[in-house]
Amino acid sequence: MSQEIVFIAFGSNAGDRQELCDRAVALMNLLPRSRVTGVSSYYESEPIDPQGILGPTWFYNGVVKLETSLSAQRLLVILQETERALGREEENRRGPRTMDFDIIFFGQQVIEQSGLTVPHPRLHQRRFVLEPLVELDPSWNHPVFHRSVKELLESLADTSRVNKLNLLPGAKYGSRQACMGPSA
Ligand code: ADP
Ligand code: MG
Repeated sequence: MSQEIVFIAFGSNAGDRQELCDRAVALMNLLPRSRVTGVSSYYESEPIDPQGILGPTWFYNGVVKLETSLSAQRLLVILQETERALGREEENRRGPRTMDFDIIFFGQQVIEQSGLTVPHPRLHQRRFVLEPLVELDPSWNHPVFHRSVKELLESLADTSRVNKLNLLPGAKYGSRQACMGPSA
């Protein structure tokens, strides 16, 4: 079974955001047929919310890097189950959320199916995704734009505020420490 390098973005803007992100990171370490190889720092980011449906609370965001032999479709199903386990409400899915997972990259695969688009179609517009991605793997290639994530961040128009937090992701549950960047 082939292995792929995968980046999963997580974000929380309801409930105890740090606790929920710590639990999310711990649960990523329990994914079947998968191995977490990096966890970004946590970032606090203002909601990008022109319609005001996300609410005023800033998000905690981060990115997990893993190797997996799961299919992208199977991974998405497990991530959606995990969102529900962490209190995500289906009836108000687009509102404030205890946990949101997005598959950002699945190796260099380009997937366009109903319910699953990879690379994530908005990743290149989002500072709260690109900052943690660059922390983990600045030279990672976007398979559609053929540019590294570092280049995408450098040409980003998104001026929303994203602040790196001085916290140890997942530390509470014995997970890996934050990635210290490519030279660490
Ligand atoms: P968002 O993350 O855009 O705020 P949701 O988490 O409610 O919103 O996701 C909406 C839908 O996006 C999900 O039902 C899922 O099927 C779909 N989707 C498409 N591509 C992806 C992806 N790469 N990662 C996660 N969800 C995706
Ligand atoms: Mg999502």
